[in-house]
Amino acid sequence: MADANGIKPIVCKFGGTSVADATQLRKVRDIIVTDPRRRFIVTSAFGKRDDNDHGCTDLLLLCHQTAKAGFRFDEPFRHIKERHRAIRSKLGLKPIDQCLREVEEGIIEHREGNRDFAASRGEYLMAIQLAEFLGMPFVDAAELIFFDEHGKLDIERTRAALAALAVRCERAVIPGFYGVLPDGQIKTFSRGGSDISGALVAEGVSAELYENWTDVSGLLSADPRVVSLPKPIASVSYTELHELAYTGAKVIHPEAVLPVRRAGIPINIRNTNQPEDPGTLIVPDDHPFDSAPLVTGIAGRKDFTVVHIAKEGMNAEQGIGSRLLAILARHGVNWEHMPTSLDTISLVIHAEQMSNGKERLVLNDIHRELEPDSVVVLPHMALVATVGRRMAHTPGIAATLFGALGAEGINIRMINQGSSEISIIIGVENADCERAMRAIYQAFFA
Ligand code: ASP
Repeated sequence: MADANGIKPIVCKFGGTSVADATQLRKVRDIIVTDPRRRFIVTSAFGKRDDNDHGCTDLLLLCHQTAKAGFRFDEPFRHIKERHRAIRSKLGLKPIDQCLREVEEGIIEHREGNRDFAASRGEYLMAIQLAEFLGMPFVDAAELIFFDEHGKLDIERTRAALAALAVRCERAVIPGFYGVLPDGQIKTFSRGGSDISGALVAEGVSAELYENWTDVSGLLSADPRVVSLPKPIASVSYTELHELAYTGAKVIHPEAVLPVRRAGIPINIRNTNQPEDPGTLIVPDDHPFDSAPLVTGIAGRKDFTVVHIAKEGMNAEQGIGSRLLAILARHGVNWEHMPTSLDTISLVIHAEQMSNGKERLVLNDIHRELEPDSVVVLPHMALVATVGRRMAHTPGIAATLFGALGAEGINIRMINQGSSEISIIIGVENADCERAMRAIYQAFFA
């Protein structure tokens, strides 16, 4: 909701590395004070400081498992206490021992139940101390984010509670990752779910912008392990993000996109350690793009199986497509793409979908129910997606892409271009995946 001057708030979500210690929390404060619109803050629990460190949620889950097995969990809980105490003493805050004791007792009390109470306490503790440090009110997520009796998000109730929050509080610090069930029990989202909480808060308080503060300066146009020093992506549409995320690039929880997309609120991925970097802006699809490059990004994912089904006269045979999809649905197999020609259908399926003997069952049913002339299975295939909203209606893109792959001697086994023309997906052998990504990158970005 807009303030008395008609200015809408910015919702900031800080990830685990942004709140990992006192130094990081000072950076968080500096970020918040530089823009008075940053009024609603959602926090993760403390994360790892380096690769050998432990994040709070993992430690809490260990406490729960240990308690459930009937043992004392002093050792993992000692780490949690020490990390919080160190933060508080360095920031000059009063001890939080009473709160820590209550969390410890709560874990014992909930030891027979599910893990969600324990898992949520890292966010709870961090939001309490961040609120104190920033001099802002703490509002518990259990008063704002509601699930129904089946564990599904109750979006209407959640929206109403967040809209009421925006009226009653000018500013607030809210723990991410969890909400409450109708019986008062805590329920968490899946791991990394503070992103979802931040998005719901942004939607609920009608934010101008959802800033997601993490430890990278946004998305890169290609995987830096494959392409050296890929260019950062300044802006990407929600649809492009989806295409890039599906093939590998992950910087925000996929379920976090929906609430803000629905409300037309842009997401800005920012780096707490380099706040001067503009990061990546994720914007609604109808946003005007003036200076966007032709290609936004390139993503690759390995280990697909292509099932190539041929039958003469397939185009004239009614119902063959629906029978094929019914076979996949019956075996619980998800498919990614289905390129067709007059007499062929190819199914592109991730190999993990076909594990545990499912491939044999699916192929048997295809032979029996579709009576094809031939079925050829191509395993170990990679998909490389070239994504760009400005690619649509731009002549010459495909020529450049295929020319670059041809010059590298890469054999293209499959081509799929969606009707939106925002991506061209090619199938190559797993072994050619990195080479194909580099060739395409060179062609469009070098
Ligand atoms: N702390 C939770 C996790 O580690 C949630 C989050 O950080 O988003 O998954």
